[in-house]
Amino acid sequence: MELAGLNIKFLPGVGDKKAAVLYEELQVQSYEDMLYHVPFKYVDRSKIYTIAALNSQLPYIQIKAKIRDLRSVGQGKSLRMTAIAYDDTGTLELVWFKGFKYLSSQIDPAREYLIFGQPSEFNHKLNIVHPEIDPFDKASPLLVGFQAIYPTTEKMKKSFLNSKAIGKIQATIFKTIQGKISETLPAWFIQRHKLLFLHEALYNIHFPENPDMLHKAQYRLKFEELFYIQLNILKIKYKRKTYFKGHPFTSIGTYFQTFYHQYLPFELTAAQKRVIREIRQDCGSGKQMNRLLQGDVGSGKTLVAVMCMLMALDNCYQTCLMAPTEILAAQHYETIRQLLANMNITVALLTGSTKKSEREEIHRGLREGSLQILIGTHALLEDVVAFQNIGLVIIDEQHRFGVAQRAKLWQKNSIPPHVLVMTATPIPRTLAMTLYGDLDVSVIDELPPGRKPVTTLHAFDKKRLEVFQFIEKELAKGHQAYVVYPLIRESEKMDFRNLEEGFEQINQYFLPKGYPVGMVHGQLKPAEKEAEMRRFVSAETKILVSTTVIEVGVNVPNASIMVIESAERFGLSQLHQLRGRVGRGAEQSYCILMTSYKISNDSRKRIDTMTATNDGFEIAEADLKLRGPGDIEGTQQSGLTCSLKIANLGKDALILNEASRIANDILADDPDLLKAENQLFAIQIKRLFKTRITWRYIS
Ligand code: ADP
Ligand code: MG
Repeated sequence: MELAGLNIKFLPGVGDKKAAVLYEELQVQSYEDMLYHVPFKYVDRSKIYTIAALNSQLPYIQIKAKIRDLRSVGQGKSLRMTAIAYDDTGTLELVWFKGFKYLSSQIDPAREYLIFGQPSEFNHKLNIVHPEIDPFDKASPLLVGFQAIYPTTEKMKKSFLNSKAIGKIQATIFKTIQGKISETLPAWFIQRHKLLFLHEALYNIHFPENPDMLHKAQYRLKFEELFYIQLNILKIKYKRKTYFKGHPFTSIGTYFQTFYHQYLPFELTAAQKRVIREIRQDCGSGKQMNRLLQGDVGSGKTLVAVMCMLMALDNCYQTCLMAPTEILAAQHYETIRQLLANMNITVALLTGSTKKSEREEIHRGLREGSLQILIGTHALLEDVVAFQNIGLVIIDEQHRFGVAQRAKLWQKNSIPPHVLVMTATPIPRTLAMTLYGDLDVSVIDELPPGRKPVTTLHAFDKKRLEVFQFIEKELAKGHQAYVVYPLIRESEKMDFRNLEEGFEQINQYFLPKGYPVGMVHGQLKPAEKEAEMRRFVSAETKILVSTTVIEVGVNVPNASIMVIESAERFGLSQLHQLRGRVGRGAEQSYCILMTSYKISNDSRKRIDTMTATNDGFEIAEADLKLRGPGDIEGTQQSGLTCSLKIANLGKDALILNEASRIANDILADDPDLLKAENQLFAIQIKRLFKTRITWRYIS
């Protein structure tokens, strides 16, 4: 049965109103959507507690009890209803803040109820707030045994779509369709890999017969989900490798050689050498390169980029480097111009603030081929920017770029240019396989020699004066410091005030001692921001107070202290990025994470991770586990968040590996999925990924 075509509003008990809420809150429209709205946890309702055995540490539990003394208490906002539940062993208070009418009509003091909820402690007494109650003799069989708990929202609850109601809807769907769920994996495949059938798996996800079946159901659904993602993305890779031509960079010529032998400012690290070799082989193969270059902050990706650009020039192609901000683009431009100063190469910078006359000059140079290297921001993507013959595109700090923007670059030549995407946000392997499985990956896993790892400390707000004194000592040695404040859109006004107050405080302390303080934030005009950054780069200002605008790429080796205010509000990868701004010189550097005294468990884990390790990959793994993939920067635009409904990349690495291996085997045997036994795979891929396939080539 085609469950995707059956509208949930026609299901008995749903109707227009609830259907609208389901769509708004969960994007659930069809029977199929609903079945894939899976529980986020299960509670064991096979056990019935006695009241005496309860305590506030228990998770959701159920008791069998009678209910007396139902009444309303308080007024206005504190209006609530309470009742006493009692069994042979004791009493327990029940509390409701809404649904009074319904309650009054429901509760019968003579009856026994199955009462379900989480005990908590209030005024040294145990109670359960908003318990679910069902007459014991009528409690549906669904309520005893293993029960699913569904994610719900406030809005859903207001429309009577709580977890229990969702469970009922699921049950009604199963009743209506009578087990007729079309299978999405071929029978031979299910048999070979010992999977449950789809209908069994879906049923057990919602109504587990026992823990073992639940486990098998989860496995089947996670496996299938990851398998199709892998099959799709690896198929694209096979296709690109088989059919797509690329500019062959056949020779290593004068530019590369001259630079390597005469102007290389330092010995390349072994990792840089290896990565350059990988890129060289790829670009020389006659196929189009699509490669992700991962390297922790400070690992020297810029130099790798420059050497790859020289390869393009040696083969008579133009090349461009795109950065996410003007500051970064300008910094790359300066670095690259200096590196190539004596080599007679034309390099230009194109950003939103490039003057019109200059801009026209650049456009002409690109068209005529006299301009060899272009560095810039999104301005590169404008249609008027046309190259004579572009051979290589490098994208720095990729996660700031939208997928559509990248796709635009792809179209700048009849034969697509080689693409190198550089990122300093290490991506856990599972996420890289899922998001970038069609890309080849190079990793710089080594920092240039002589770097001292940054020492990371945690300090409570109260210790601010001591932190200031510490900064002062570093400044006295001639170093510089960053102080970063969070600025988050939802709390922008208050954050901005904090930033300004922080700046005042720092200024008052440090200026009289002869240390000028600068401030940058997103509300400054680009030119002002630029000027302020320049003052810091040239050490005119000694402390830079800022929001996260300095997060990515900025390089001031003289800065040895990074203070992060309200560090509990930053994500792990952001903290790591910020810390990467220091430790770029030979001196010992420090990162100080300031937090309030009370922080959540997750914040505590993030802070602990930061103080424990400097390894970006370790941090990325921890991040994935703490946050789940949806929150990791850059994954929203990929569409991955909506497609991963069941699997969890933080936890399901083993299943992913298995799925990937099996997908690879199938493609090795049948790259276009043309064989009869693979038809269902081809159909499913089309169904699942039809909208994404076009831009996948470039991400
Ligand atoms: P990122 O990978 O974060 O972009 P950069 O390319 O900005 O790192 O390099 C960080 C710093 O390391 C720069 O100051 C750069 O000059 C320096 N650097 C790069 N490669 C080497 C090397 N092989 N030896 C010594 N220093 C290097
Ligand atoms: Mg960089």
